[in-house]
Amino acid sequence: MADETRFVEENTDKSDDYARWYLDVVAKAQLADYSPVRGCMVIRPYGYALWENMQAGLDARIKATGHVNAYFPLFIPESLLQREAEHVAGFNPEVAWITAAGGNQLEERLAVRPTSEAMIMTMYGKWVQSWRDLPILINQWGNVVRWEMRTRPFLRTTEFLWQEGHTAHRAEDEAREEVLRMLDVYRDFVETELGVPVLAGRKSDAEKFAGAEATYTIEAMMGDAQALQAGTSHFFGQKFAKAFDISFLDQDGERRHAWTTSWGSSTRLVGGLIMCHGDDSGLIIPPRVAPHQTVIVPIFRKEEEREAVREAVDGITRSLDGQVRCHVDWSENTPGWKFNEWEMRGVPVRLEVGPRDVAQGQAVAVRRDTRAKESIPLSGLATRLPELLDDVQRSLFDRAVAFRAAHTHHVKSLDELAELIEKERGFFWAPWCGSAACEEAVRERTRATLRCIPLDGGDDRGPCLVCGQPADHTAVFAHSY
Ligand SMILES: [Zn+2]
Repeated sequence: MADETRFVEENTDKSDDYARWYLDVVAKAQLADYSPVRGCMVIRPYGYALWENMQAGLDARIKATGHVNAYFPLFIPESLLQREAEHVAGFNPEVAWITAAGGNQLEERLAVRPTSEAMIMTMYGKWVQSWRDLPILINQWGNVVRWEMRTRPFLRTTEFLWQEGHTAHRAEDEAREEVLRMLDVYRDFVETELGVPVLAGRKSDAEKFAGAEATYTIEAMMGDAQALQAGTSHFFGQKFAKAFDISFLDQDGERRHAWTTSWGSSTRLVGGLIMCHGDDSGLIIPPRVAPHQTVIVPIFRKEEEREAVREAVDGITRSLDGQVRCHVDWSENTPGWKFNEWEMRGVPVRLEVGPRDVAQGQAVAVRRDTRAKESIPLSGLATRLPELLDDVQRSLFDRAVAFRAAHTHHVKSLDELAELIEKERGFFWAPWCGSAACEEAVRERTRATLRCIPLDGGDDRGPCLVCGQPADHTAVFAHSY
């Protein structure tokens, strides 16, 4: 990111240079800025307010499904990280190590956590003795560090914020249910709150999490028709329980190992939201998570008009208090400047209040997504505005669903896939025999990866798109972030 510190001044059209457009929106909407630390971003107040609203929506769902929050240390002793061989092999290249502290070399290196399985499973090993101690259903909100070579604000940063849930269960079927339950919590959260439709499915062995027996994912389509992995949920079987000695005395007097899961989602979702909904004028934030659901722009030419407008605006904010998150822009900029600014920053609905509106007892509402205007009587704002915001939320989701449908293709062969994907990005559904060699052949020829084996709607059957052998699976291939 160090060489990406300059931004162009004019709006970049989304269709011209998508990558540039994304960076411009992040910077100009004041969501994040580059920091003196390579690959690490500063999340600015507007971006952080968005993240806090997202967190609230997800946290409520995590708690409603019986989980509680806790906090574990940022540092993980090397010996702990090494207990599960596949896990450590998967993460080793990305781990940042602390070798010295307090003026001395450390006897044992400490990893800055890339994820917390090793730490949390160690503690579960201590806490679990009897079948009565299970299940353990804990979530943690925190930060992790993964040393990335190529970074991009929100999408891939060296340090990022996330939540990671870790659970331990008495029985296999309970753990498997948990993995799918949390995948569905992610699906519901991302679709309902962020207005981003997702495809839920299982990862292939090549794409699963280091140390997992099965990884499930939700995949979203961005505005350039590439895929973004928006949340994952992992089934570990008894592997971690054996490596970290999480065992319990069962009801029948037998000593057994627990079954564990983990699931995570991160500030990456902010990037997903920007890329799913944004347009050439900038950001469009879904009302449910928008820091300001409505911005009120007072309009007056003469000083003597100001008082009447102020009175009307104060009345509006009072009537919307507790119902709609409002921001009044009293800054010294012109109304036209304010319109552009708040459009670019993605506020779902703008309210214009001028002397003529005050005289007529109304305000003019302008939707960010369609730019449709409507005059609303001040007395009816408290009912009409929430309806309008609901409608924006629904429209954004519907638009994203239609966009995904228009960029989804069903293909029968690798030739067909290669030819189509050359012309346009998208989700490509195809019959797949399940072999890693065929998956790799697709990647080599098209750079598309196997995003998931969808849980629903996978009825693309017939010969495997690569080898022609009978295919038991439908796989979705795409270029991805
Ligand atoms: Zn095959």
